[in-house]
Amino acid sequence: MKVLAVYPGSFDPVTNGHLDIIRRGSRLFDRIVVAILRNPEKEPLFGLQERRKILQRATSGIPNVSVDSFDGLLVDYARRRGAQVIVRGLRALSDFEYEFQMALMNRRLDSSIETVFMMPSETYSYLSSRLVKEVVRLGGSVTGLVPPEVEQRLGARVGSRRKRTARKAAQRTQRRSRE
Ligand code: ADP
Repeated sequence: MKVLAVYPGSFDPVTNGHLDIIRRGSRLFDRIVVAILRNPEKEPLFGLQERRKILQRATSGIPNVSVDSFDGLLVDYARRRGAQVIVRGLRALSDFEYEFQMALMNRRLDSSIETVFMMPSETYSYLSSRLVKEVVRLGGSVTGLVPPEVEQRLGARVGSRRKRTARKAAQRTQRRSRE
């Protein structure tokens, strides 16, 4: 039997920790689909199409990986794709509680789909998309933690946000001094 795995997440943006899990998964399963969650409640830094393109380029050297997006229930999506496995990455103990709840809920929703947890290399075990964005916002370097394309795009995106915020603050000051 060929085993298809789905690796879901926000990937806003993809980090080398995600890529580490994708590589490990690609050695374990016949196919792995990286599935970007379309979440209307979260405002992402990178749009869906941009995240998709970045992920496609970052995984282009791994033959049995493809990239897709989904909304709604993960188990419904996995069933539609004919996947038997959901892959999740486990970094530290802090991930465990939430992941444990999700895995058991997903099992309740569809007991034929198994969640498999994988640990990244320890180099990436403290790494998250949120932290990467924060470091860049504060002017720090994320070289070696994200693919070079992500680093460039983060610099451009956060730089333009910073300029916009500075422009707005200057306009506010001007307005106040006129009043
Ligand atoms: P989500 O919003 O679903 O947490 P993420 O894109 O942040 O989406 O993460 C997707 C999956 O990848 C999750 O299982 C998360 O635990 C895992 N993950 C995120 N960063 C890393 C990392 N540095 N190493 C290993 N797994 C990771």
